[in-house]
Parts: sequence; C-alpha cells; structure tokens
Amino acid sequence: MMTSKEIRKAFLDFFANKDHKIVPSAPMVVKNDPTLMFTNAGMNQFKDIFLGNEPAKYKRVADSQKCLRVSGKHNDLEEVGHDTYHHTMFEMLGNWSFGDYFKKEIIDWAWEFLTEVVKLDKDRLYATVFEGAQDENLSPDEEAKSYWLKHLPADRVIMGNKHDNFWEMGATGPCGPCSEIHIDLRSEDERKKIPGVELVNQSHPQVIEIWNLVFMQFNRKADGKLEPLPAKHVDTGMGFERLCMALQGKQSNYDTDIFQPVIQEIARLTGVKYGSSEETDVASRVIADHIRAISFAIADGQLPSNAKAGYVIRRILRRAVRYAYTFLNQSEPFMYKLLPVFISVMGEAYPELVAQKDIIEKVMIEEETSFLRTLETGIKLLDKVVSKAKSENKTEIDGKTVFELYDTYGFPLDLTELILKEKNLSLNQKEFEAELSKQKERSRQDAKIDSSDWVEINSFSTEDFTGYDNTEEEVKIWRYRKVEAKGKTYYQLVFNKTPFYGEMGGQVGDQGYLEFNGEKTYITDTQKENGLSIHIVKELPKDLNVTFKAVVNKEKRAASEANHTATHLLDEALRTILGTHVEQKGSLVCPDYLRFDFSHFSKLSDEEIETVEKFVNEKIRQSIDLEEYRDMPIDEAKAKGAIALFGEKYGDKVRVVKFGSSVELCGGCHAQNTGKIGFFKIITETAIASGVRRIEALTGKAAEDFIRKQCAVATELKLMFKAKTEQAALDSVKALLDENAALKKQIDNLEHEKLASIKENLLKSAKQISGINVIAETVTVSNKDLLKDLSFQLRQQLENSYIVLGALIDNKPLLSVIMTDNIVKERSLNAGAIVKEAGKEILGGGGGQAFYATAGGKKPEGLQAAINKAVAMI
Ligand code: ATP
Ligand code: MG
Repeated sequence: MMTSKEIRKAFLDFFANKDHKIVPSAPMVVKNDPTLMFTNAGMNQFKDIFLGNEPAKYKRVADSQKCLRVSGKHNDLEEVGHDTYHHTMFEMLGNWSFGDYFKKEIIDWAWEFLTEVVKLDKDRLYATVFEGAQDENLSPDEEAKSYWLKHLPADRVIMGNKHDNFWEMGATGPCGPCSEIHIDLRSEDERKKIPGVELVNQSHPQVIEIWNLVFMQFNRKADGKLEPLPAKHVDTGMGFERLCMALQGKQSNYDTDIFQPVIQEIARLTGVKYGSSEETDVASRVIADHIRAISFAIADGQLPSNAKAGYVIRRILRRAVRYAYTFLNQSEPFMYKLLPVFISVMGEAYPELVAQKDIIEKVMIEEETSFLRTLETGIKLLDKVVSKAKSENKTEIDGKTVFELYDTYGFPLDLTELILKEKNLSLNQKEFEAELSKQKERSRQDAKIDSSDWVEINSFSTEDFTGYDNTEEEVKIWRYRKVEAKGKTYYQLVFNKTPFYGEMGGQVGDQGYLEFNGEKTYITDTQKENGLSIHIVKELPKDLNVTFKAVVNKEKRAASEANHTATHLLDEALRTILGTHVEQKGSLVCPDYLRFDFSHFSKLSDEEIETVEKFVNEKIRQSIDLEEYRDMPIDEAKAKGAIALFGEKYGDKVRVVKFGSSVELCGGCHAQNTGKIGFFKIITETAIASGVRRIEALTGKAAEDFIRKQCAVATELKLMFKAKTEQAALDSVKALLDENAALKKQIDNLEHEKLASIKENLLKSAKQISGINVIAETVTVSNKDLLKDLSFQLRQQLENSYIVLGALIDNKPLLSVIMTDNIVKERSLNAGAIVKEAGKEILGGGGGQAFYATAGGKKPEGLQAAINKAVAMI
C-alpha cells in the first residue's frame, strides 16, 4: 500500500518527467487580492497569468497546493465532518499548461497516471464532459469526449451540465468547461445492485469526484458575459486526501494515514472510541479536520481575530471546540494537545508547521480558553431565558433573543437548539432567520463593491514598476474602470509603467498626481491587485489617451521609506537582543509611523526597550548604505542570511534589501542610507495575542516632534515647581505626593476624633422607650462609612439598644437603623423592613440585614420624619 507521502511524490515525479516545473504551494492565506481571502484552488497563484497581466515563467507547472474552502464561492464548511470526503483545508494536486498542451495531452496523462502509475482499477473510473449551455451559447465539448472514448467505454463517459462541468473561480475571472474523473469505491456486491454511473455526482460518499481537468478558455466579465482568454490553458486539481483514500482501499478520507493518527489521538485523549457512534465520530472528524485549517492559517501568519480572514479562522476553531465540548465532553482546552501528533504527520511536507509549533500552540490555547468561557456565559444566559419562558408558560423562545446570543456572544445556534430541545422548548426559526438576514444585508451593504469591467485605452502586456529609482515618470493609461463602494464612486487606473508603490508587504501605497497640460488628477492611493498597480482617482482626467507625468508625493514617500528601513533595523535589533525566536508577524509602514508585530512570549522590560532603541539609533548614526539586489536567486539570498517570512509568496528570483548586517527579502521602498531615518523612538509596546507583541515607533520628524512634546511637559513641570533641573522637578512631585498622603491621614485621624465626641453625646442622648434604649438623632459626618462605623460602635457599647441615625452626605439624606440581637429576636423587628418603610419619607429605598439596614433618599427635608417613623415602629 502506498503511503500518503509516496502518493504525493508519485504525482509530482510524474509531471516532472513530463517537463513540468515543480513549484511550492502558495500561502493558504491570500494577501494582496481583494477578491479572495484564502486559496481555494491550485490555480489561484496563477491568476495573473490567466488574466494576461503577467507572462508565464514556465509553460508547464505542477504542485501540491494548500487550499481552504470555507468562504465565498467555494464553501464546504457545513459538510465537513458530517461527510467523509470534504475538508476545510485540503491539498490539491495540480498541473498546468499555460498556452502549451491542451485537452488531448492532459486527458491521456491523467489516465496514464491513475491507471498505470498508481494503478487504480480502470473499471471503477468515470469521466464527465461538459454538455454545453444554450444560454451562454456554448456547445458540447465533443473534443474532450472523443479523447475519453479512447480509454473508457461510452457508458462511462457522462455528459454534465454547467453546474458540474463548467469551472469558475469566483463571480468574475478565468473559467472554462471541465472534465471530471470520478471513482466508485463501493463493494462488488453493491456495484452489482446499482451501477456506478447512476451515482456519479449524486453526493454518494463512495462514488466521488477525484480529479477535475479544467480547460481554461474564458474570462467571466462583471456583466456576466464570457470573453475568450488570449490563450488556452489547462488547469487541473485533484483532491490529495481522496486519492489517498482510493489508493489505500479506504471508505473515508479519515481512514487514511493522513488523518488516522490524529483521530486515534482524539480517541486516546477523550476516551471515546472512533466508530462508537455517529455523533462522536462526526465530532472527531470535525476536530481532526479543523486542527489542520487552524494550524496552517496561523503558520501562514493569519491569527484568529474579529474581522475578515481572522474571523473566519476564529469561527472554524470555535466550531471544533463546540463539537469537542458537546459530544466529547471536553470543557478544558484540548485541541492544542493534538498538535504533536498532527505535526508529526504533516511537518515533513510543510516545515512551516514545525517551525511555528510554539506560536500555533499558544494561540490555540488562548482561543480555546476564551471560547469555552463564552460557552459557559452563553449557557448561563440561556438558562435564564429558559426559566423565564417556563415561568410564563411559553413553549417557544423568540428569535431575537437567540440571535443576540448568537451574534453578540458568539454562542452557536445548533447548541442553543440542542439545549432548548432538552428542555422541551423550541425556537422561533422565522424570527431568527429574519434577524440573520437583516444582519447579512447590513454587512453586505457595508462590503458592497461594484466594479465595472476594465476599459482598455492602450494595449500593453506588462507593467513596469520604476519607483525604486524614480518618483516621476512619463506614463500612458493601459486601462481603467469605475468602482462604486459605500455610496462613493471612484476610478482605478493602470499604467504601462509607474513610479507609484502599490500597497504591499505592510507598506501603504503612494499618493501623488498625474499631470497633463497643467491639469492635475490626484492619486489618493495605490493598491496592488492581481499583480498590477491600481491607482485610485476621484475623477478621470479629461483626455485619457495622452502621455501624463506621474508624480509621487515625495515627502510622504520619504517618510514611508525611513519607516520601512527602521522596521528592518528594529527586526534585527529584536532578533539580536531578544533572540532568534522573534519572527515578524505583521507590519504597517506608513508616512506617520511604523508598527511591527512579532512573536515573543513576554512583555519587554524598560531596559529591553531602551536597548532596542539604542541599537537602532546606533545603526542610524553609522549611516549604512542600502545594498539592493533586485533579481537574486532565492537560494543565494537565503545563503546570504536573508530572512524569509512564512506565509509570503516568493518567486525563484527575489529582491534582497541589505543594510550592513540586516538582510531581508523585501519588495518595499527604502531609504538610500540609514542616516536618512534621523532618529528612532518606540512609543508603545503591547500584546496583540498570546505570544505576539506589537511595537509602534516613530522616526525622523515625527520622532523629533514626539520628543519635543515630552520635553515641553518637563519644562512646564520645572516652571511649576521652580526647579532648576528635571530631577529637582521630579523630587518636588514626589514630595508633593508624600505630603498629600500625610494630609489625608491627618484628616482621617481628625474625623475619628470627631466621631468619638459625637458618639459620647449620642450615648448621653439615649432614652428608654417601652423598655429599649433608643438613640434617634441627625448627625454630621462626611461619608457613609463613618455613619456605619458610628452605628456599629454605638450598638456595641449600649446593650438592649435601637439606634436610628440620619445624616446628609453630599446633600443626600441617608437613614441608618441598627439594633442589638436580643431586640431582633424578642420583638421580631427587621431593620430592612423598617428602612424600607421609613425611607419613603426621604423618597428613598434601601435594605440590609435584620439587625442593620440603610436607606438613601432624594428628599433631605424628610429626614426627621423618617427618623421619627423608624422610632415609632417599635
Ligand atoms: P465536490 O463536488 O466534490 O465538492 P468540486 O467540484 O468542488 O468537488 P473542484 O473545485 O473541481 O471540486 O476541485 C478539484 C478537486 O479537489 C476535486 O476533484 C476534489 O477531489 C478536491 N476537492 C474539492 N473540494 C474539496 C474539499 N472540500 N475537500 C477535499 N477535497 C476537495
Ligand atoms: Mg465543491
């Protein structure tokens, strides 16, 4: 039996032998593409090539790509765990032809690989072919069919509709007819009963699609129309886990050597055997699947958070925790315990998991802990809702309340339903759905971006970025389009070349203007999309077909450059001072400041921060020149000690930015010399997640302004205290604080002395009423605590007593009633009830215990009446 490692290798070797370049998987978390959060197919990383924005470096490519299908057009989340062949994160084995071979070759090769190399049973294979679509004016794919008929009998080549046999990445973009290979893994007996051909594409767990061969030949435009792509391509994707199931003779992906070690570890840790019940099996599968998605996401630099991609990851983790909690009785963090086994399975093929194990573990524990707390709070809240409903004799809980639990507290709907069912209650589904769709509509409106199709002004095939050397350039417009978002309209422009840096790698995009004949068009931002720089303008220039002067705002760019270079020096400082475990986890470089997130497990001490600042400022004073290598082979760069980041996509040739001993792979803009940074100052150091710290810092003029403000405060303090030096001012502040504390203490003592004399007078004022020692007076004290103190002291010193005191504290009346225990017993009096009644005179309320209670009120002139009433009640 082939192991999963051997199967992955066999695929890559097969295509390498057919002259394919084997490339690494792109990161699973997509950066720099506003239309896609996660890689959902092998072809994503080649989108620019399909769209014709970038020429292909190799005509034939193959790889194994980490994919995640939990959002957007491809979302399998709800299936995962419940079925046995859809995952959130899975590996897609793929091969591509960019304008090279087409349908014939790939159909022959796919057949060769499956039946001759890995030797799947030919009798169990089926192929589907696009039947055409009249509404799109597309005819049946007779060509693909004819190639299949060489290998398969006619009854095993099935014509399929647009839904199954026309592949699209998203709402717009590259697409085309496809031909899928399905396999029937049922037993001989079952196959005799129902022919496999009837089960293809019928969601049967043992008759499944394994490989999709897409013939990429169209581009879907914003108006829904198809336009032919400049060249025809092949794009294939095969589910690695499904192939392993077929080759290892299993009935479920989870029974392969990819998942079994983790599944068995779950069984060991929970004591629940896999296979013992459907419910616990689903839970085990959900956990075994989700730990992959979460670990890969974190390794790619995407931490769980409250927005966008981070939120998607958080929800996956919560889904797993919730299954573990409900079905496997795990009320303590648990997922992280599976990491060692999981990493031992996947770590060899994906070393980023090994390298990032510590941070994955930390983040997982923290997320699990906090969600378990949420579950606890949610259950308590739900209990309240349930008992309220029961007391009102209701059988249904309104949808609004449940939605609030779901939306505000992140409490899972299915868990709510389960708990309600146990208590014989139901949920008003309609109301819940209504709330949910209201919320969806709100966020849809917020996120709605309407882009028109690109309008081509000139036809170019590549864009040159000249911004490393120039901040001005003569440019022509390649294409533009109109965009509407959040009620605003703007335009996006692409040029044949540009000095404008498009937002990438943490550095924000350049601003500036286009000029022609004295007419200026301001560029408010530059972004990167599908490999092109997108310049944002509010209005289009009058004449689009002229040569413009494109001018970058030099001041802002220089400030960004200084901050970017400072970020590299900061990275080096942290790795030198704290240790090489420090890894960049994110950064923001803009003209105003810089932000740097990095892995480190404790707060930086003041000394550490100072040492880091000194390190960076020393490098600034050394005036180190920038050494830049634009096209260095990646291996050479790594040999030079360049730091590469996990979750970044690097080509074979990379740009290396070097300032002395700081060497990084970086595409950003930098100061020509560290001296240009001027000065570096850290302003905050905080935690943003477990094990991830954030530093915010200033450079140059901004840092200077910051220091000037701090000095101004020091100067003002010196003036205030007429001190000659800062130290003297500080000493004065300290002395003032000491003096303040001493005075407070003195006041306290005086108050207590005063209290003693008040007490003496009150004791003297005690009268006998129906055999009880009664004190009833208004007193002058400055706070509640003193009144309480006084009451308790009197009670202690005067036996068989009943004491009613009134006071005005901050102009508000306060009534206090206290009595000795014998009175509570013998006369069955209750101070709480008494203040409640007497408190009415001061428009107040309160309560307490049987022997002591107080009431605060709003009507000072009623205080005497209240005291009288309290006395009258004995
Ligand atoms: P299905 O209909 O089974 O969901 P699909 O049509 O969505 O598959 P494609 O988009 O063509 O699949 O992806 C190519 C291959 O990737 C599929 O043939 C399948 O083997 C695999 N695949 C797709 N989705 C998943 C998933 N969620 N988990 C594991 N493998 C998958
Ligand atoms: Mg699918």
